[in-house]
Amino acid sequence: MKGKMEGVTLVADWDPKPGFKLGAKDVEGRQTYLGSQVWRNPRLEVREYDIPTPGPSEVLLEVKACGICGSDVHMAQADQDGYIFYPGLTGFPCILGHEFSGVVVEAGKNAFDKRTNKPFRGGERVTSEEMLWCGNCRPCADGQPNHCERLDEVGFNVNGAYAKYLLLPSRTIWSLEPMADRYPGDEIFIAGSLVEPTSVAYNAVIERGGGIRPGDRAVVLGGGPIGIAACAILKRAGASKVILSETQEERAAIALALGADFAVNPLKESFADRVLELTEGMGADLFVEATGLPTVVYPDIERVIWEGRTLNSTVVVTARADAKMPVTGEVLQVRRGRMIGAQGHSGHGNFPRVIDCMADGMDMTPMSTKKVGRTDLLESIIRLQTDRKECKITYLAG
Ligand SMILES: [Zn+2]
Ligand SMILES: [Zn+2]
Repeated sequence: MKGKMEGVTLVADWDPKPGFKLGAKDVEGRQTYLGSQVWRNPRLEVREYDIPTPGPSEVLLEVKACGICGSDVHMAQADQDGYIFYPGLTGFPCILGHEFSGVVVEAGKNAFDKRTNKPFRGGERVTSEEMLWCGNCRPCADGQPNHCERLDEVGFNVNGAYAKYLLLPSRTIWSLEPMADRYPGDEIFIAGSLVEPTSVAYNAVIERGGGIRPGDRAVVLGGGPIGIAACAILKRAGASKVILSETQEERAAIALALGADFAVNPLKESFADRVLELTEGMGADLFVEATGLPTVVYPDIERVIWEGRTLNSTVVVTARADAKMPVTGEVLQVRRGRMIGAQGHSGHGNFPRVIDCMADGMDMTPMSTKKVGRTDLLESIIRLQTDRKECKITYLAG
């Protein structure tokens, strides 16, 4: 397909802080793994692009929906010195948008639909991983694509979904067609745009955390989209009690609707006391840290592990935070506890399982509390810098 399209593009100045050294995959003036050390004066611009043409193993999508993520907000937000908040892989200018769904419009002859094991024909409704793992490095070859050494990310250093069309390799694309019966009309695209954040939670709870056994008790700290998705997955996996720590009432209410049994506001009462009370002194088998404030929440986790009577608890560190956690080794030793780090959403059957769960009734669409069109998209990204009231704002293409 020939022609032009517009894309909501993040532009910033390459101005490394003193002491910054180019890393192995950093490209002077264009790309870095340490965004907040380098990029200054971020601004969002609507720029014009050629509509891309798919190669033999690529797919061109027409974008239908895309969730606005905290990362989008943090890439467009400057600190007092003008540097962007987002600390990770970034290459600008870049069209943002990485939690998306759409329709296949054109596909190369080697672009296979993993659902049918046949080439894409056009018209399929799909979503995609945003992590473009290379498939050739050691972690990829060992089956650990979330730790790819040559990673690219859609909407971070490769053009993303805040545009009419999006080019992707077929290996990261997953069909949404199993969801068609349950999600009529545009609902399938809204649900599809929530597969990515839900898969981050799935990877943390099931793949990295080792999952739970039906009847286990679980604690989720933080009721953002990842924490809420973790509640839904834990309930579906058979948790007898899912207890959420969240300060904001609106978010707690969504979590309670999607799987949490109890929501505790840690500003109003002691979270550890309340968990011990709700579990009759047992504590929890699994803890999901999804706040990004480990120094604030870890003391409560540790108290529940120490005072609760459940052995072998697992703490899954899911939210990113550049902070030292106040961990007492003795508590892990005596209580047979363990801590696990979780990152990413790719591989391990995460995406197709989340899609099948959604098809089977794990409806995550209540997380999308507001829909915006193209005209409000830019302003919404900016407004989210100060307003945390909406759980997830979804951009819907007209
Ligand atoms: Zn995201
Ligand atoms: Zn790789």
